[in-house]
Amino acid sequence: MELLQKMVSDMQNNLIWIRDEILPESEAKVNALSGMAQFGLNVFEGIRCYQADDHKISYAFRLHDHLDRLEESCKLIGFKMPVSKRILISNFNSIILKNNFTSDVAVRLTIFSDGSGSWHSTSPLSYFIAPVQKERTNISKLIGRSACISSWVRISDNVLPPRAKIGANYINGRFAHMAAISGGYDLPILLNHHGTVSEGPGSCIFMIKKNKLITPETSASILESITRDTILNYAPSLGLEVEEKPIDRTELYLADEVFMCGTAAEITPITSIDQYKIGRGVVGSSTSNLLKMYHKIVIGEISNYRHWLSKVE
Ligand code: PMP
Repeated sequence: MELLQKMVSDMQNNLIWIRDEILPESEAKVNALSGMAQFGLNVFEGIRCYQADDHKISYAFRLHDHLDRLEESCKLIGFKMPVSKRILISNFNSIILKNNFTSDVAVRLTIFSDGSGSWHSTSPLSYFIAPVQKERTNISKLIGRSACISSWVRISDNVLPPRAKIGANYINGRFAHMAAISGGYDLPILLNHHGTVSEGPGSCIFMIKKNKLITPETSASILESITRDTILNYAPSLGLEVEEKPIDRTELYLADEVFMCGTAAEITPITSIDQYKIGRGVVGSSTSNLLKMYHKIVIGEISNYRHWLSKVE
């Protein structure tokens, strides 16, 4: 028990970069009256770094695309980037190296409304970069999850734009997630205001039907997911045709395979939705092949996609 408590407290004491200081996570504080603490006024990115070559190298996956999206989230919410992308990258690398991690890493990079403020505050802004150890999905232990179609509707562009990765957006996902769990499901799938499929609370969705990989369009009230874009790029090399189009909930029930995707989720198979078995109700072969290829891409084993990797140095 003591060992477990120590492991938990060590995990919580990773070093983080905040306001140009390196501090243990437990000492990185924000003002209780900040827009961030009161209203979830922040924009953020979740970025993964994968170790390659026998743990000798670590690559951040699509770091520049994450920073471009962070800049777009800032633009939408009325924040001026508090620091250049070049400095962000340099601090991102330093804080990861400083932690001496021995495995893959997940990094939270957040720009937030700092100091006492309101929902309309635009300054002062600060940022933090917080890495934690996080292993990639173990393909040999890949399990299917159960999902339900949520009665909570996904936020939409004229309400709270899901295209921007804003902290407060996640409260919509929270309602859906809580209802899914209390209904006995692992995950919710949210419909948008048109009544078609949008995404999960922290991941996008794909279905496969007769060798066609289908996902909702970027105007379907989704975050423009970097993993979604990655999959759309390489899936044709596995013989899958790809299509972005509106999806009805019953199309999901009748799909051969369904999976969620995201930086954290990577590729998460869904094997039942609202008690309907998807395909044969087990992890499908296309889903596991897509995940295998994803894991090759993120460590630079496929030369066509090496431009997506940034060495952590
Ligand atoms: N949708 C939502 C709501 C998310 O939070 C995430 C995770 N960032 C995704 C989709 C997947 O996006 P990405 O592939 O860029 O991580």
